Amino acid sequence: MSDIIFPSHLPSRTKIVATVGPACDNESTLTQLMLCGVTVFRLNMAHSAGTEDAQRRLNLIRSAANKLGRPIGVLADLAGPKMRLGEVQGGTYFCDTKIPIRFVRGDKTNEPNTFTTTYEPLIDDLNIGDNVMLADGTVTLRVMSKDINSVVCEVIQGGAIRSRQGVNLPGVNLSIKTLQPHDIVHAKWAVTAGIDFIGLSFVRSADDIHELREIMAETAHQNTGLFGEIPHIIAKIEKQEAVDNIEEITDTANGIMAARGDLGVELDIARIATVQKMIIDTCRRKLKPVIVATQMLESMHTHTIPTRAEATDVANAILDGADATMLSGETAVGDYPVETVQMMNRIAVETEKFITKQSWYKNDANKKLNNSKSKDGKLSVTNAICSAAVSLAESINAKRILIASRSGVSVMGLSNLRSSVQIIGTSHNQRVLNRMNLYWGVIPVLNAPTDPRESLKEIVDAGKKIGRFERGDRLVLVSTMGPTSENHNIIYAHVVD
Ligand code: PEP
Repeated sequence: MSDIIFPSHLPSRTKIVATVGPACDNESTLTQLMLCGVTVFRLNMAHSAGTEDAQRRLNLIRSAANKLGRPIGVLADLAGPKMRLGEVQGGTYFCDTKIPIRFVRGDKTNEPNTFTTTYEPLIDDLNIGDNVMLADGTVTLRVMSKDINSVVCEVIQGGAIRSRQGVNLPGVNLSIKTLQPHDIVHAKWAVTAGIDFIGLSFVRSADDIHELREIMAETAHQNTGLFGEIPHIIAKIEKQEAVDNIEEITDTANGIMAARGDLGVELDIARIATVQKMIIDTCRRKLKPVIVATQMLESMHTHTIPTRAEATDVANAILDGADATMLSGETAVGDYPVETVQMMNRIAVETEKFITKQSWYKNDANKKLNNSKSKDGKLSVTNAICSAAVSLAESINAKRILIASRSGVSVMGLSNLRSSVQIIGTSHNQRVLNRMNLYWGVIPVLNAPTDPRESLKEIVDAGKKIGRFERGDRLVLVSTMGPTSENHNIIYAHVVD
């Protein structure tokens, strides 16, 4: 008998990603967040004070998860070529539509109405007519003239700006690489620290993903002498170029984030909802997990309940088919991190009760499965078995579908079918279990690879011990038997005795 730790609670099927920051970076709050439904913690490398600080937070997360006896996913989110204003004289400035402003090279200026940025090639990359967005898109500038050392912009939409606020250049082809030197340092740390997912910000093409993967594989090679496990890459869609290249980016990455913060500045904000739907649809067709991020419960920074629009936004992301929804400042620096996670979990649970009964939702999942057919119209054996397992489980009103996996790919395929029956994904590999924390409807459970019947017995015994399973409960097992060990090829219906 193994010492399987079976989760004692049932959180939402939609996974919750929470960003770690001063509001929650202690073991007790991290534990509470996990108990309320967080399955993946995000370390925002743009805000952490280097790898030492990130390592400290990682240690807290791993320690809290170990004490709870459950797998947790950790996502290190690289900053990428995020541009910021330099120091603004006096800290703030009001951009007035009657007063043009100038950008100059360097990192400091004392001239009136003149600014610097952290983006060195700014003057070279901008052309007359280009837009420059400041302060999360609240201020819009347009380039009027340019000389060798400066650009002058008219203020189209005025507003207040502060030192070090974000700068976006929608539609401008950036001359610098997506992976910056600080990202490479952080990516190497992520490999050696055993991080589960790495977020690639401002991705523009599949080449950016290949480059990050190569750097991480090389680091793994240097550290272990083998091309070992590297973090799964989550490509953050936040530029028009990424939207244009969404097919190749989704094919190449291990997962996608609709990063609506920068996306809503780089694109016309009126397009955000439809682009979100397109991104989710692409991921579901290609069996890749997808996270919807930013401002989901924004008002909960300072309030204990969200606005009606925010509650609807979380529900709509789930209706669109997201695997996970993400909290940023709400958990990192907000006043109510625990309440915010509880609220997201409640909205998700309510929405899931609704969708799992909708025939359009199920039909959509089946349509996406059919999209994965090969050119000669065949499903892979694993996908066909998963589909049959869902039909069986739903027709016998099974309590759970159990699936063992080496890499987690088959578990993602099963999750994508959006069954009304919850899935227990098992693996002997802790990294694979951690990653299952991003797959909709999957509860990861550590289980050594044994004979499928032995495995089933162990899980049933562990579930019975905590009252999760009782006599008469029906379970469906998806497993592998015989020489074709690469594929899942058996379905087994079991009644708990
Ligand atoms: C976003 O832009 O929505 C996002 C998640 O990225 P970051 O928080 O790193 O700006």
